[in-house]
Amino acid sequence: MFFKKKKPETSARKAGGMDYTLVRSARRTLALQIREGGELVVRAPHRTPLREIEDWIFKKRRWIERHQNRFEKIAGHAPVYRDGAAHFYLGTRYPLGIIKGVRHRAELRDGVIILTLRGAPAPEKIERALKAWYLEEARGVFEDRLSKLFPPFAGRNHDRPEIKIRWMKSRWGSMGREGVMTLNAKLMLKETGLIDYVIVHELCHMEHMNHGREFYALMDQMLPGWKGRRKMLKGDL
Ligand SMILES: [Zn+2]
Repeated sequence: MFFKKKKPETSARKAGGMDYTLVRSARRTLALQIREGGELVVRAPHRTPLREIEDWIFKKRRWIERHQNRFEKIAGHAPVYRDGAAHFYLGTRYPLGIIKGVRHRAELRDGVIILTLRGAPAPEKIERALKAWYLEEARGVFEDRLSKLFPPFAGRNHDRPEIKIRWMKSRWGSMGREGVMTLNAKLMLKETGLIDYVIVHELCHMEHMNHGREFYALMDQMLPGWKGRRKMLKGDL
């Protein structure tokens, strides 16, 4: 008998919200590869059932995420706005799940950031919806953190500041003389310990408007170990 060797077949597929390229060829085992830019390539024998391949991808998802993250870091973590792309919420990464619906809606459910959008999910539309959601969520989160952090400042005769939330490109927060603390909505991507650091920093400005020695002495008193947190935020705007 003579068998003609089958040629490799390549197809673009999707498993569990993850895009991948499947390459079937005359090999005997399954293999994964993350290409530069984070593209996932799965190599498989011609005859392995698709379900078996996708179960295997699911088992390897931690490895895949870890390696894709590495590529995103190299690429200067430019966010990707498409179904399945991972985005941070309070320091944890969640995949985006894009659903078509009659009304725009966003929520975090079962470990997925679900965005319901009308019409075609263009990247700009996804970005807008995601940012609007962060902004919406920020109100409750920031007020809650401020409630936890404010008491020692109340004890020093300060009034609780009003919080304003905006997307800013050059700073995490600022404190105005008129008692308004402006916080960057991008803090919603960070763990709460880092949000706390920015809030305490701005609260200390109610007492010292500069970054002098007394300001840092107050920081030390209000949030010991704040320097480590500052380091984690540095250069990340
Ligand atoms: Zn400052």
